[in-house]
Amino acid sequence: MSDSAGSSEEKWPLGVFVSIDEGFGVDLNVAHELGVTTVHLHAPRPASRTPAAAAAFQSRLQDLGLRVTVVFAGFDGESYADIPTVQATIGLVPPATRADRLDELKRIIDFTKLLAVDATGLHVGFVPHDTSDPEYAAVVAVTREACEYAGERDIHIHLETGQEPAEVLVQFLEEVNCENLHVNFDPANMILYGCGEPIPALRAVGRYVRSIHCKDATWSDKPGETWGAEMPLGQGTVDFAEYLRTLDEIGYTGPLTIEREIPQEPDRQKEEIGGAVRLLDRLKQASPTTP
Ligand code: MG
Repeated sequence: MSDSAGSSEEKWPLGVFVSIDEGFGVDLNVAHELGVTTVHLHAPRPASRTPAAAAAFQSRLQDLGLRVTVVFAGFDGESYADIPTVQATIGLVPPATRADRLDELKRIIDFTKLLAVDATGLHVGFVPHDTSDPEYAAVVAVTREACEYAGERDIHIHLETGQEPAEVLVQFLEEVNCENLHVNFDPANMILYGCGEPIPALRAVGRYVRSIHCKDATWSDKPGETWGAEMPLGQGTVDFAEYLRTLDEIGYTGPLTIEREIPQEPDRQKEEIGGAVRLLDRLKQASPTTP
């Protein structure tokens, strides 16, 4: 495994996914109230990415005792409505929006640098599983260009898992072949997209893992065709005790970042993330290697 994004002395500090002006995450104040110390940030709109806005945001983070460990890119026109829509709209894969989104990703990498954070994450999209597909080579090339731009600024790129099986992702990472390209492992996505059991997948991509999400889900009755269901942590199929044991096994010591994507129900979202914080705290204390 690579050095974790935002790694510090404390092993497995808890974190939560947050948004400033849009996106799936909770508000910064909620993160603070939940008692976590790290956050993954959904990149804000361009107006909130100026140097002045970044400085104001950094001072707010400091007041709340929070540290951003990864900035996540999202793009206009993306929709997670169902699996075919994800295939058609997400990330750098759709050809019609690829060039514009690469530009936008570069601006988000610039914003990551302004915040003094060293990692930008994204869903690259549904990488074609057939490597002879000409679009496969095009997605490899655009990902490499993003990595090179980020590398010149000492920023790492973290690809979110789940939209392809682990072995397809590993082959893709090897083809892009950039030292600053890593994985943000999300066990629930493996289940939601029907792309394989999360624990073996974590072992398979382990050497690339530099950040992770703690999210839970149940399988669809038609895996890969229809969504599984996202669940509160501990109520889905992911075995979080085994997840933490496997993170230990691959040498991951960075933040455990909780993601619960129900922004339309903020009270329930906060309550369920609170439950996730308590569950992960218990499991951390039970881990033989946690001081
Ligand atoms: Mg995730």
